Amino acid sequence: DKNPKSLLEEFNSDSSVKKVIGVVSGKGGVGKSFVTAMLAVLMRRKGYRVGILDADITGPSIPKMFGINKVAGGTEHVIFPEETDEGIKVMSVNLLLENEEDPVLWRGPILGNVVKQFWTDVLWEDLDYMFIDMPPGTGDVPLTVFQSIPLDGIVIVSSPQDLVSMIVKKAYNMAKMMNIPVLGLVENMSYVKCPDCGKEINIFGESKLSSVAKEIGIDVLGRIPIDPDIAKLADRGLFGRFKAKYLTEAADEMDARMMN
Ligand code: ADP
Repeated sequence: DKNPKSLLEEFNSDSSVKKVIGVVSGKGGVGKSFVTAMLAVLMRRKGYRVGILDADITGPSIPKMFGINKVAGGTEHVIFPEETDEGIKVMSVNLLLENEEDPVLWRGPILGNVVKQFWTDVLWEDLDYMFIDMPPGTGDVPLTVFQSIPLDGIVIVSSPQDLVSMIVKKAYNMAKMMNIPVLGLVENMSYVKCPDCGKEINIFGESKLSSVAKEIGIDVLGRIPIDPDIAKLADRGLFGRFKAKYLTEAADEMDARMMN
């Protein structure tokens, strides 16, 4: 008989997850979960074993986007992740709540511990890529996550407005201070495409993406428009079916960089 501890150590040693990529943003609501999910799906479509650790404990949205509403199973010592239709493993605080509308009222240190446990006590088994939907901002919860999970790189997601206010710079500085390579910057909700004529409309004015990326000294990974079709898929729990190719090149580049 194996004791659960050795079971965990056997399955969930650091080496069983090859690359861990955190997705961060200067503040909430910019599409961090959206980008996390998109990168995870793209890597899955390349044939990799992929997991998403939803560390956005107070605003978890990953399970809903993929239509997962079960309560995760487990033993006394191990939690089992759920799996999306595409075969992406997911752990989120929403999978531990009986009622997904229940608010999470824990304070910072507890939140940090929960995320730590998502890393140490979940039976992820072997993964090529784990994407972490990080808590938004640069407060103590994201800091704990930075300290407790061995990240191989981070992706910064920004709205057009955040690029103007340079909020992204804080997220960048945080990663730098923790010595984590910044893989690049994604501008989300960057423009809309007219469904009739196809014209791209920059609602927020000319994009600051390349100038900000240049100023900070990071790569541009891509621009994503406001896409009502994907938003609809997300609302219906069918995010994994998106067809648009916004971050395809970014995922290829990231993969080449990470797996070499
Ligand atoms: P965050 O994780 O930064 O708080 P989310 O990824 O949850 O933000 O995005 C907030 C809301 O905006 C969600 O309902 C999401 O589906 C929607 N959304 C995000 N990005 C886009 C986009 N490019 N097009 C359409 N809807 C989007």
